[in-house]
Amino acid sequence: AALSNGGQASSFNIPPIKFTKLFINGQFVDSLSGKEFETIDPRTGEVITKIAEGGKEDIDIAVKAARVAFDHGPWPRMPGVERARIMMKWADLIEQNIDEIAALDAIDAGKLYHYCKVGDIPAAAATIRYYAGAADKIHGEVLKASGKFHAYTLLEPVGVVGHIIPWNFPTTMFVAKVSPSLAAGCTMVLKPAEQTPLSALYYAHLAKLAGIPDGVLNVVPGFGRTAGAAISSHMDIDLVSFTGSTEVGREIMRSAASSNLKQVSLELGGKSPVIVFDDADVNKAAELALLGIVFNKGEICVAGSRVLVQEGIYDEFEKKLVEKAKAWVVGDPFDPKAQQGPQVDKKQFEKILSYIEIGKKEGATLLTGGKRVGDKGYYIEPTIFSNVKEDMRIVQEEIFGPVMALMKFKTIDDAIKIANSTKYGLASGIVTKSLDTANTVSRSLRAGIVWINCYFAFGNDIPYGGYKMSGFGRDFGLEALHKYLQVKSVVTPIYNSPW
Ligand code: ADP
Repeated sequence: AALSNGGQASSFNIPPIKFTKLFINGQFVDSLSGKEFETIDPRTGEVITKIAEGGKEDIDIAVKAARVAFDHGPWPRMPGVERARIMMKWADLIEQNIDEIAALDAIDAGKLYHYCKVGDIPAAAATIRYYAGAADKIHGEVLKASGKFHAYTLLEPVGVVGHIIPWNFPTTMFVAKVSPSLAAGCTMVLKPAEQTPLSALYYAHLAKLAGIPDGVLNVVPGFGRTAGAAISSHMDIDLVSFTGSTEVGREIMRSAASSNLKQVSLELGGKSPVIVFDDADVNKAAELALLGIVFNKGEICVAGSRVLVQEGIYDEFEKKLVEKAKAWVVGDPFDPKAQQGPQVDKKQFEKILSYIEIGKKEGATLLTGGKRVGDKGYYIEPTIFSNVKEDMRIVQEEIFGPVMALMKFKTIDDAIKIANSTKYGLASGIVTKSLDTANTVSRSLRAGIVWINCYFAFGNDIPYGGYKMSGFGRDFGLEALHKYLQVKSVVTPIYNSPW
């Protein structure tokens, strides 16, 4: 297969890279070691620029700055409405720079430039505004305590937060972590993924312009085993919020436990099912299912990577799905015709191709796709396997690419059983016209998100997170704000209570 624009990586609108250093205590600085790492353009495999590589010592300095800002600085102490005003200004600045930031995410992560401009980046500004709006509405409760006590709760910021984020949504993940913790009055150190540091540093710059005080938001690019591990094992970080793989989530929880018992919130992998019932509109359902696996090149933890179709419509569904997959346009993320850009890096590209080989060896039928697109960069065809068995690795393991396992089922009970049969429990989709079926299945799925007759329906006010080994804790919604707050109970005796 060929790329939509003939394999020419376009130089369309690519801005000069302005920020390549660590952002600590309001300044862009080199790492103490002086080390740098390369960030790569997945369209070509070529180096975009070198970035200062944060290590343990840099994380220590960033945490100290965040601690001073928390213990003595204005941010946690100012009225919520003041924090809100500054956050709103930050959101405005992001909107004023959409073109430039979209280009950074496109070259760093292979994300569709035109989509970032109307999707990820305006949505990020909206997320900041959502939490800014909550910053002056944080309050505890008065308790009717039993016994002769007057009691109430205070909601206090948790303290210094460590955020470790992945590369698939550099913008969305950044604001999903940073905005609720800022609104809560926390200070923080964020480590972007080593594959995608560019937009995070740009956001740090805009945060300073907006008036977020020095030390409140520190951004330290670096690798997981060094900078990431320094966050999860730090003795002076109060909470670590992580999004990434289940394996790394386990390590983070382990080092949080063996250091200072910091709180942990984990948003991990998935193998989410999309369940299509006989009464569905087959064409629309096939469209939804395809989008479920190719959106953001399958690099999304809630990807609908298992598609379960009821036997009555299975054959027609399969035919339509394959037609649509073949028509899906893979190409340079700056090409307006492209619907899918390159995978983020060589490692992911090779991992996905190796899963495709595993699927073939396991005896699944390759209906379409299965190969790279073009001869440079990390592009992969939308790939669909049928005749899969529940215990195959391509059915159980997260591939994180445009590779779907398509299955047939008979009854609603079969569908529920298959849907729940992986270690993950992140998202799920149901396609049916029957309210009864939708209600029964949505209550039976062990998953943190159920989309009925839609998929990837995200919202700032919709909590997002997993059951089972997909993690715990929620991003988005007021749940995420409360994750960064802790409850203090204040009790006084009443010696002469009339009640
Ligand atoms: P992937 O394997 O898809 O790259 P990861 O879960 O490894 O996803 O990466 C998500 C984030 O976790 C990245 O910022 C990465 O640097 C970080 N990370 C990786 N390993 C560790 C670790 N041992 N401790 C802390 N953070 C880590």
